[in-house]
Amino acid sequence: MKFKIHRGTKEIGGSCVEVWTENSRILLDFGMPLVDEKGDDFNFYPYKDLTQQELIHEGILHNIEGLYPGSDKLIDGIVISHAHQDHIGLLGYVNTEIKYYLGEATHEIIKLGNDFHQKDIQLKHFFHFEKAKTFDVGDISITPYWNDHSAFDAYSFLLEANGKTIFYSGDFRSHGRKAKAFEWFIRNAPQNVDYLLLEGTTIGSSDELFKTEDELEQEFATLFKNSDCINYISTSSQNIDRLVSIYRACLESGKTFVIDIYTANVLNTLSEFANLPTPLKDFKQINVLFPNKLTTNLFERNLEHLVYKFTGSKITTATISENPSNYVVIVRPSMKIDLQKITVDKGNLVYSMWDGYKKKPYTMEFIDWLESKNFTVIDIHTSGHADTPTLKRMVGAIKPKYIVPIHTFEGDNYKDIFDYPVVRLEDGEVQEM
Ligand SMILES: [Zn+2]
Ligand SMILES: [Zn+2]
Repeated sequence: MKFKIHRGTKEIGGSCVEVWTENSRILLDFGMPLVDEKGDDFNFYPYKDLTQQELIHEGILHNIEGLYPGSDKLIDGIVISHAHQDHIGLLGYVNTEIKYYLGEATHEIIKLGNDFHQKDIQLKHFFHFEKAKTFDVGDISITPYWNDHSAFDAYSFLLEANGKTIFYSGDFRSHGRKAKAFEWFIRNAPQNVDYLLLEGTTIGSSDELFKTEDELEQEFATLFKNSDCINYISTSSQNIDRLVSIYRACLESGKTFVIDIYTANVLNTLSEFANLPTPLKDFKQINVLFPNKLTTNLFERNLEHLVYKFTGSKITTATISENPSNYVVIVRPSMKIDLQKITVDKGNLVYSMWDGYKKKPYTMEFIDWLESKNFTVIDIHTSGHADTPTLKRMVGAIKPKYIVPIHTFEGDNYKDIFDYPVVRLEDGEVQEM
């Protein structure tokens, strides 16, 4: 078995690992970069009309034989760890005859992305794997390990072939709502693997233990209980752990949770896989706002069924304006036109996302606008990724022969943090085993 990290040895984002034997070849993730060569935010817009060949030339797509339309001998499969853009964002370029291996809920999130974000990732051939159940792609055996991460349905993978083993950590943490998944992993981890490809998103940011989602829930509840004004929350609609924390805090404080059509569809779809609050089941204090732009856009694309199914739980800006302090509303910059119709004399904007997004121009503008409307900005957030003590626990459980840094800006520091040999690869470098 051999492997190559196409992107991720020196950056976070654009995750893509190729693994092969004499007979089989697979890809682990095929993500969109998050940073450009200068380390600034990556902007795909200027590249969006380029051909596959041009994108390879620009270094956006990797030159991988058997991956794209027009290839003769296709690779044997693409294994997806979770549905974050930095792991799936380039799948639209892949030859549609290639088979995907992914969690069923991850597949549903990808379909929602097609509907709501106008992505075009069609998975024609697929296999839905299950936690801890080994499957084979050619002569490579793969065991998915369910993870605690800010994405729903995230996995690490053990790969075995010809007596050699690789463990790909994917993205994970231990302080979320699925902390038990990590503890189960620690007790059941495969040991003495040859290469551990270990994410290190948070290395260099803080040596402290991160706040748990339970602690965040308490912070939200305290804020909601003590506030006599409306609470807007800026968070990712795909961060299910966070939405649950906010909903539970609403129940504790007697507030009504107002989600938009997209968030409602995400929660409702994923409620088939876990006990999540959805307006369509027996959950109280949850309503759906129909944002003007989004609703119009869905109607234009004949996707009105995604709107209509929430008619029974609809709330209007007029109703919210009658008693604003009763409500906790998920907001995003594109909803400005709707928020303008909610009449309030003050409010809180809780920023519950990675701090870096705050520097994006449209977010900055949105925050400035709310501040000008007498809103107080409050940060309540915890990382979707493992803190250093958690990374060390994974390493200690697996006892790898070698650690390979991936999904990190701090790969050079791994050798000072972990008591195991570190192999520092370059993007595109082949590692023989
Ligand atoms: Zn992720
Ligand atoms: Zn990631």
